[in-house]
Amino acid sequence: MCLPPTPTLPLKGGGGFAVPRPMTQHSDTLLASYHAAIANDLAAEKIRLLMKLRKLNITDTRVLSAMESTPREAFVEAAFRDRAYEDNALPIAAEQTISMPSVVAIMTQALDVQPRHMVLEIGTGSGYQAAILAKLCRRLHTIERHRELYEVATARFDTLKLRNITCHLGDGAKGWAHAAPYSRIMVTCAAIEEPTALLEQLADGGKMVIPLGEHVADQELFMITRKGSEFITEPLGSVRFVPLVEEKSAK
Ligand code: SAH
Repeated sequence: MCLPPTPTLPLKGGGGFAVPRPMTQHSDTLLASYHAAIANDLAAEKIRLLMKLRKLNITDTRVLSAMESTPREAFVEAAFRDRAYEDNALPIAAEQTISMPSVVAIMTQALDVQPRHMVLEIGTGSGYQAAILAKLCRRLHTIERHRELYEVATARFDTLKLRNITCHLGDGAKGWAHAAPYSRIMVTCAAIEEPTALLEQLADGGKMVIPLGEHVADQELFMITRKGSEFITEPLGSVRFVPLVEEKSAK
């Protein structure tokens, strides 16, 4: 990405005084071209990322187009905006992270979300994964325990007019019983074992994707499918997530 050249101070007529107005116009133009350059760079990086996702076997066109139409730069801190389409987790407030785009794509594709589904996400964080799920389902409930993240994510959903998302502040390990059962549940923080409330709130025939493991080094992603009172668990590969923190009251 190129940085804008330092604006030069335009001098008027005989060169006596610097006139502020032309300089403002000049800086506005420079700023506009700077923003346009960033937008071009991001667009090119987004295309590279989408090509990488295809190589990683993300073939579901609904998932790819949800990722294409979701501006990840709107979900990261201003200081990381130019890195929004790198395939990396990035820091967000409250010492949490926005997940790697490839992990978001893999989990979303594995969950096989359909347009009529009622979906629950645990760990709203930046709101990026929620925005993608919301484009694939009828209604998404998402729960975050940190008030700051909850407020910022809610404002983002509003700005991006993602009207089928309801964000809750609280302990996601308890799920959100008022809207249960859910056809799909996605947990984006690592639990030691599957929270019982989430298993109970999963619809018959429903699926839940959840990272399990006590230590970051030995976490594994699992798909849990409910068949009546039976829960079938399959491993999907190793992952690294921040921990699911259970608590009595939200921060
Ligand atoms: N899905 C997020 C990833 C955020 S990281 C995104 O796309 O950005 C995981 C998030 O889970 C963090 O924000 C963390 O605060 C939250 N979390 C951890 N334990 C939780 C709990 N018990 N209930 C709700 N949220 C929780």
